[in-house]
Amino acid sequence: RQIRHLVSASLKPVNSPLIQRESSGPGPCMSIALSHRYTESLPADSERSRQPRIVEGAAYSFVDPDPVSQPRLLAWSTALGDSLGIARPSEDQDAWLQVLSGNTRWSGTSPYANCYGGHQFGQWAGQLGDGRAITLGEFVDRSGSIHELQLKGAGRTPYSRGADGRAVLRSSLREYLCSEAMHALGVPTTRALSLITTGDDVVRDMFYDGNPQAEPGAIVCHVAPSFLRLGTFELPASRGDTPLLRQLVDYSIEHHEPDIDHRDPDALFAWYEAICRRTARLIAEWTRVGFVHGVMNTDNLSIHGITIDYGPYGWLEPYEPGWTPNTTDAQTSRYCFGRQPAIAQWNLSRFGGALTHLTSDTERLEQCLASYAEEYEHASQAMFASKLGLVDLQSEARQQLLTDLFDLLSMTETDYTLFFRGLGAVPAERPGEAEPQAALMPAYYDPAALQGEVGQALRDWVARYQLEAKQQPDAVRQADMQRSNPLYVARNYLAQLAIDEAEQGRTEELHRLIQVLENPYTEQPGMERYAEKRPEWARHRAGCSALSCSS
Ligand code: AMP
Ligand code: MG
Repeated sequence: RQIRHLVSASLKPVNSPLIQRESSGPGPCMSIALSHRYTESLPADSERSRQPRIVEGAAYSFVDPDPVSQPRLLAWSTALGDSLGIARPSEDQDAWLQVLSGNTRWSGTSPYANCYGGHQFGQWAGQLGDGRAITLGEFVDRSGSIHELQLKGAGRTPYSRGADGRAVLRSSLREYLCSEAMHALGVPTTRALSLITTGDDVVRDMFYDGNPQAEPGAIVCHVAPSFLRLGTFELPASRGDTPLLRQLVDYSIEHHEPDIDHRDPDALFAWYEAICRRTARLIAEWTRVGFVHGVMNTDNLSIHGITIDYGPYGWLEPYEPGWTPNTTDAQTSRYCFGRQPAIAQWNLSRFGGALTHLTSDTERLEQCLASYAEEYEHASQAMFASKLGLVDLQSEARQQLLTDLFDLLSMTETDYTLFFRGLGAVPAERPGEAEPQAALMPAYYDPAALQGEVGQALRDWVARYQLEAKQQPDAVRQADMQRSNPLYVARNYLAQLAIDEAEQGRTEELHRLIQVLENPYTEQPGMERYAEKRPEWARHRAGCSALSCSS
């Protein structure tokens, strides 16, 4: 099925003598093939201008990236580049650097911006679309899988509304860093191939307080099976454009659901259920690693169950279910850590609402949606059992242990990542040991708080934990727990330190951080400071614990 859509392109970049030289030998670029299945299967906007407008009856608009002055490569994912067959650009005139900054079009590609809508903060927002993201095309990797390569911050599109289509370095660096860190953690995500500074300034009012400032601009190249999102389907449904909705659904099933036959009359239900289930597993994974997305609008949830659109995201440091890093959401905390499972379900219910335009069997759709809760329950129970190093959570005592743990973590500021990581080192085989809770001390932001009631609650909980945990040898349990509980996560303040340096033109910190986060479960000698809880100075600094949507 895929072969029909694969078109081998010569992949000579336009106007680039350098690459022509490379292609004449066994250069890495030669092995790349292009696919046009998306643009060939789905209707395009008939207009070509980038004038902001309402686009109807089309899934995307052809638009080229806007050139930039002085592209410079700041970061490159070698593993991803290798799997795609793209070598790291080594100099400023490198053809791939020109392509990934939007300065040259790779021959054979027809870049486009997607049309979609979405529910934002609980309200239908109408047409949104890729206002600053442009897909270069679909590239076939060495194993035959197809990936969309999408530039974020590549200039205006018909979906930019009043905005500039650009992105600043700080948000681009955060997006690059976090998506690669999520991949290393084993959490489904879009990948990032490159982080490029453009040499052009972008003006942003970071705190929305009337103080716009010029900031360095940047472009990230994202990679995903597709950037289809729940809002992609909601938009034609909201307009009563059933034929387009049908086409989008058929396309998604045919090309992205190898286990579902798109001609099967039940395909719609099987597809909806599959999306519900994988979204449930994704949210359980976010919970496992303490990730807060920050803007879970329906336009920011993928049909593939992968994390997309890293904006004002954050990592839970002190355990606090009501915490959100997004200052725009500070009033209602709609998208806080503890609400993510319920919000995903709400988003899926909006998406299911869109699908009612294709079937009158709403009861069946409801059943599919119910699979979300079932899958989440299952995935989160298994996830917490593995975080605790217990075989399962099926006894009443273990359920209570988990419930009481959340109470314990809420009593005083306790680092979510470090607590679970330390728990693996709590001995259980010989429960008589003097201070079994010692390994948990690094997780406490205020160790003095442990002197009274909190200390007693901790000792009591640890004693009960030991009774359950001793069913496995300590070494086995600890090894298991280290696979579920990362030591290094992309803490906001660490990203901010890398941003501070990168804005001054230095990238040592960024590269060290990328390297540490590539192996988040493995203790790395000399890298202890990346595994520490947030320092006091970072508590209120912008970018370190609170972020605006400005990007
Ligand atoms: P987000 O909250 O980042 O998912 O973005 C929501 C919508 O705003 C999407 O349609 C984006 O394409 C659009 N958008 C955000 N920033 C910009 C920008 N600088 N220029 C154009 N469109 C933007
Ligand atoms: Mg978005």
